[in-house]
Amino acid sequence: MVDVDRYLLKPWEPPEEKLYPVIDELLAAWQATGEIARTEIRVVGHRWSQRSFAIRDFLASNAVPYRWYSADDPEGIRLLAAADAGPDAVPLLLTPDGTALANPSLTEVAAKVGLHTVPQGDFYDDVIIIGGGPAGLGAAVYAASEGLHTVLIERQATGGQAGQSSRIENYLGFPDGVSGGQLTERARRQADKFGAEVLTARQVTGLEVRGPKRVVHFHNGSEIAARTIILATGVAYRQLPATGVDDLVGRGVYYGSASTVAAACVGQHVVIVGGANSAGQAAVFFARHAAKVTLAVRGPSLDRGMSRYLVEQVRALDNLEVRTSTTVTDCQGEFHLECLTLHDENTGMDEVVQASHVFIFIGAAPMTNGCPRASVATTPDSC
Ligand SMILES: Cc1cc2nc3c(=O)[nH]c(=O)nc-3n(C[C@H](O)[C@H](O)[C@H](O)COP(=O)(O)OP(=O)(O)OC[C@H]3O[C@@H](n4cnc5c(N)ncnc54)[C@H](O)[C@@H]3O)c2cc1C
Repeated sequence: MVDVDRYLLKPWEPPEEKLYPVIDELLAAWQATGEIARTEIRVVGHRWSQRSFAIRDFLASNAVPYRWYSADDPEGIRLLAAADAGPDAVPLLLTPDGTALANPSLTEVAAKVGLHTVPQGDFYDDVIIIGGGPAGLGAAVYAASEGLHTVLIERQATGGQAGQSSRIENYLGFPDGVSGGQLTERARRQADKFGAEVLTARQVTGLEVRGPKRVVHFHNGSEIAARTIILATGVAYRQLPATGVDDLVGRGVYYGSASTVAAACVGQHVVIVGGANSAGQAAVFFARHAAKVTLAVRGPSLDRGMSRYLVEQVRALDNLEVRTSTTVTDCQGEFHLECLTLHDENTGMDEVVQASHVFIFIGAAPMTNGCPRASVATTPDSC
């Protein structure tokens, strides 16, 4: 038996250029995760609870290892009793130092698991970047590498949408593809190396011009300022116009991919909604876990919105059914998703199918207002 974390084929000469930097990079990545990997965070919650899902998703998207316990299983019941936690305390987060956080906010979770949530100062000489997706991380790397005093603010997890991708095949410099997690981790380390500060689990809710300062307001009422703000807030997912869907979000219905629930999809029927690359990637990913995957595509063919390499992967999978000219019109379930209605645009027929999970990838609209739920205040320029 061997335990292989990474391996590499011996690269060409000279080793100073081809071998040592690769090993340095692997060691640095291992060192960076070592501290977190030694800790053991435990989450006790309900499988179909939105709050429990939000915490698991947050930890997973920030690459924080944790153990999950169902509040209905004997070990979950034992942990709740040991922490003297009642039903209102679920989800419960238990940290290695013995702290029990009852139904915590994401900012509390972030601070407890060692993520950086509090800015080092209240004024940054140069730049504040809002949004930690590829665009924001790229801006942080280039700003900090030019010596600018830089802070990046991310409300959920760095990596943004790209961080959710199981395999990105078209990113420059990665001919064999790269997972969103790997890409994010590298970009974060690169930003860190140049001295950019990265805050996680902090939502920006307002912007203000105050004299020469550009002020950013946080959801908890605090603020920081800089001379320049870069908005890299990405997109907001388009909502599926199906009845019953809103009540089941986080309980079988997910916008975007949710790798944390992949294990729960084993042996189940999973529906993916959408006809572009992210839907295709998710369909291929979940086909490895679920008994059956249905890809519901509104358009008449896959070729319109999906890259050819992905169409080929989708078509090669036996447990993946593609239904074109099909929309999801209704989602039903008492405590979680149980079935949904597929409407065939060609025949006009509806079909109710049993499904435990639906993942929605029907596009997104740019957050061109900068910050959602933001009150964008402007005060007169006093200088
Ligand atoms: C599953 C999936 C697979 C994909 N695969 C590919 C692929 O293979 N190839 C490809 O080219 N593209 C792919 N994409 C698309 C690609 O990921 C996006 O184009 C890219 O992530 C956009 O980067 P961005 O930084 O502009 O925005 P985003 O990635 O959307 O990042 C924006 C960030 O800003 C944060 N934010 C927003 N508002 C606030 C606020 N008020 N305060 C603090 N933070 C805030 C968000 O939380 C988010 O992290 C995929 C997308 C998905 C979802």
